[in-house]
Amino acid sequence: AALITVLFRMGEMATMNQSLDEDTFKLLGAELGYDVQVMSAEDEDREILEQFDIDLDAEEAAEDDENLVARPPVVTVMGHVDHGKTKLLDAIRHARVLETEHGGITQHIGAYQVHIDYEDTDRAITFIDTPGHEAFTQMRARGADITDVAILVVAADDGVMPQTVEALNHAQSAGVKIVVAVNKIDVEGANPAKVRAQLTEYGLVAEEYGGDTMFVDISAKQRTGIDDLLEAVLYTSDAEVDPKANPDRPARGVAIEAKLDQGRGAVVTALVETGTLRVGDPLVVGAAHGRVRAMFDESGANVEEAGPSRPVQILGMSAVPSAGDSFIVASDDRTARQIADKREAAKRAATLAKRRKRVSLENLNEALKEGTVQTLNLILKGDASGSVEALESSLLEVEVSDEVQLQIIHRGVGAITQNDVNLATVDNAVIIGFNVRPAERVQELADSEGIEMKFYSVIYKAIEDVEDALKGMLKPIY
Ligand code: GDP
Repeated sequence: AALITVLFRMGEMATMNQSLDEDTFKLLGAELGYDVQVMSAEDEDREILEQFDIDLDAEEAAEDDENLVARPPVVTVMGHVDHGKTKLLDAIRHARVLETEHGGITQHIGAYQVHIDYEDTDRAITFIDTPGHEAFTQMRARGADITDVAILVVAADDGVMPQTVEALNHAQSAGVKIVVAVNKIDVEGANPAKVRAQLTEYGLVAEEYGGDTMFVDISAKQRTGIDDLLEAVLYTSDAEVDPKANPDRPARGVAIEAKLDQGRGAVVTALVETGTLRVGDPLVVGAAHGRVRAMFDESGANVEEAGPSRPVQILGMSAVPSAGDSFIVASDDRTARQIADKREAAKRAATLAKRRKRVSLENLNEALKEGTVQTLNLILKGDASGSVEALESSLLEVEVSDEVQLQIIHRGVGAITQNDVNLATVDNAVIIGFNVRPAERVQELADSEGIEMKFYSVIYKAIEDVEDALKGMLKPIY
């Protein structure tokens, strides 16, 4: 109440559970004689680690050049939808993953490493096995810059498309070197020269045109040109990136995938950035911790240790971390657990703060009273276009008053995706699923963003809930 009074004097009509922006916070602090510093989540994490005498930036700066050795480049495949990203990752995996006693059957663990004979040496390349720039951007948003080289896939029968441009913008803004794979050259009417010409407009000029970007013609389907592409990746990496790390230190890295496996518990795919990860290491991954009980490579073989750029599946963590969470080997189990606990607490506080701002069918009434919401934004997802349309038209018939609007900002057929949740985050919307469920990942994202998802299998139930919410949403008339 005291703060609200101060805010009122400052001309800010705030209510008890309203969120303030950064500037208002600072002004409020100044008003009360405090210097307010706004901390990013990364800063906060840095502070947590410092309490345990861990300073990752200082470690990196103190790294002696003599200790650094070349490590394999980490590669992400990006490009427009249907241009062959998945096919290419499959082709590379099948052509190149080392055969092991397990029969060389590779599983999807989120990343894999291939070996290639390059200039008479055996060289490794690590591929992130989730194509597209969404995963790339999401990882970066969490502070994980793991990609050294991006392969931009462009189908020669389709040319440069919107997501091609998006992907290359993302890569370029992250300072990641690009190798262009001109795919589908087996298709009749394929025009690889046109792709080269189109991309010059975006600053990607092929070597044969006097530029410094490598273009390789491939067919992911017929698996031709794959070796040339891998060589181009190594060439670009050697010339432009020259990635290095110190294998002789406790490991640091990033979780690229994580899931809960019945029987095995939390299964985390970790990419080692520097140092060497060993079985038995006390580890903290995001807010999860534990001792590395066992490690496996992409062929399911047991691994005792993993050096820089090596992706491995690890068992033994207390919980399932999120993709993009960083991991560090701690000095002992206790420290690992304490760091994890502090992160968990920070995460919980952040989620709570976010959730307070989000709209849900249950809190609409309150949100409206506070004046933070005038519109109920909905996203509809259903199992068939017919049902989505039926739901939409029924919803649009729901009676609304002058004070409240109902808006369907997005509709679609199929499972609820991360994209839907992101959209809901931006537009403060509630997601309604009709005969569809979200993937586990999507549920996690929605939870952490505080987005409400409601699921129905009969239309009238959905209508009823929205009607009730809207009724509750009516502002009291004085
Ligand atoms: P993504 O959306 O970029 O991951 O694309 P996909 O890898 O799923 O490929 C989209 C479609 O293009 C699939 O039907 C593939 O079989 C096909 N495709 C991919 N690469 C090639 C290629 O080199 N030649 C031909 N003819 N088809 C391809």
